[in-house]
Amino acid sequence: MRIVIWWIRRDLRLKDNDALSYAIDLSAKVIPLYILDPKLLSKEAPTRKQFLFNALHSLNRDIKKYGGSLIIREGSPLEILSQFLSETGAFSIVAEADYSPYAKIRDQKIAELLPCDFISGLTIHPPDAIKKNDGGKYTIFTPYLNKWKSLPNFYQVPQSPKGIFYSAELHSLLIPDEIQIPLFPASEIEAHKRIDAFLETGAIFSYKVNRDRMDLNGTSGLSPYLRLGLVSSKFLAIKTSYILANVGDNQDQMNAETWHNQLVWRDFYYSIMNNFPEVMTRTFRKNLRKINWRKSNSDLERWKQGTTGYPIVDAGMRQLLETGWMHNRARMITASFLTKDLLINWQEGESWFMQRLIDGDPACNNGGWQWTAGTGTDAAPYFRVFNPVLQSRKFDPTGDYIRRWVPELQACPAAFIHSPWEMPETIQSKTKIFIDKTYPKPIVDHSEARGRAINVYRSSKEF
Ligand code: FAD
Repeated sequence: MRIVIWWIRRDLRLKDNDALSYAIDLSAKVIPLYILDPKLLSKEAPTRKQFLFNALHSLNRDIKKYGGSLIIREGSPLEILSQFLSETGAFSIVAEADYSPYAKIRDQKIAELLPCDFISGLTIHPPDAIKKNDGGKYTIFTPYLNKWKSLPNFYQVPQSPKGIFYSAELHSLLIPDEIQIPLFPASEIEAHKRIDAFLETGAIFSYKVNRDRMDLNGTSGLSPYLRLGLVSSKFLAIKTSYILANVGDNQDQMNAETWHNQLVWRDFYYSIMNNFPEVMTRTFRKNLRKINWRKSNSDLERWKQGTTGYPIVDAGMRQLLETGWMHNRARMITASFLTKDLLINWQEGESWFMQRLIDGDPACNNGGWQWTAGTGTDAAPYFRVFNPVLQSRKFDPTGDYIRRWVPELQACPAAFIHSPWEMPETIQSKTKIFIDKTYPKPIVDHSEARGRAINVYRSSKEF
């Protein structure tokens, strides 16, 4: 029987996997192959790399249940695939399509030289499927969303991989060691547990209200699983569509709809990366390409280490340092602080997030940064500057999130937790929190920094 290679990249799952399903349709003998690509691995954040290795172990265990085993090779994908085709006698390779600039160049070359099919599955709708009626590309989310919703429904892949895996006597490298990350156990089962918990326990029905609260677990925590495809975004969309079609209550509808729209934001940023690949290396808005950014390594370092003296910013940055993940509201606040209050180029922040985030995703990270900096496709206007103290009061009202991640503020009274520099000396002595000694004083004065940012943005803007 003829053999097909399933080249696994960002689809480390057996369920709802269009590429795997396509491979199964071609042959009942499918070899699962993962290539450790040094070019990509050298850029991965340590947590993201560990999550990948753990997920490969888990996938291998799942594949073994079906009688095969995951083959691991290391090197340039083109060279490994050419050699693997002749070694196995396989007639075809199947892989899930990827849309980062690096992936597109790599895959185009492979498609020219080898029998390889690229199947969409990374997003719910393929990035080039949503076009304006005149064929143009969307750059604004709401019309994109409307068009997205008008497309025919997607379907879940029915294929089960039962018995099709074939690994014969093929040599495989060992998967690097599995070291569990307690907050994010890497397996397809864990991804589904999280979905069930989020959808079935009702957290989805308070999403609109709770998603911005940094002190609550109001979001799904699925981003690392989507990043490596331990669950497909299509599967989530199908589940949510089912809920939307069956839920009667208006509030529940609204909450579920808000969550569903976040999945569409992900699709949107993939379409931006696919259609405007230049966003990955420069500001999208032509008229904001010459912002006179400040260069200050010491300020950048204080931001990275979470010692800016603004508790909410420091809490977010330390959550990132300690766990490799950060709450979405904290991502917006810290990104706004870097680009507006410190007036440091958004690309510095984008790069730091990619070096740290367990869910670091080129499309979503770039979209989030350019949105917050006001330089992106569908961005917040440049004069919208988050006030870190007001954001903190609103979205961490009790200060629990701050106290969790900035332990030196544990004893800070609620009245000062969002702006500890206002603490009178008597309270500083009582709490042993001494501003500028045990906790830094603010790196900038927010209202001055806001004025500076707006002026610099305005004067660099080309009309
Ligand atoms: P939920 O709120 O439960 O949302 C479900 C899923 O929808 C998420 O897992 C994610 O896939 C998608 N989603 C939610 N919000 C967004 C959004 N604003 N843009 C695109 N997709 C979204 N997300 C990443 O996956 N990787 C990144 O590298 C990343 N970098 C970001 C950088 C900045 C500066 C900002 C402002 C946002 C960034 N985001 C990124 C988006 C968002 O912060 C995370 O997707 C979210 O916090 C993940 O938590 P969750 O899975 O609990 O999300």
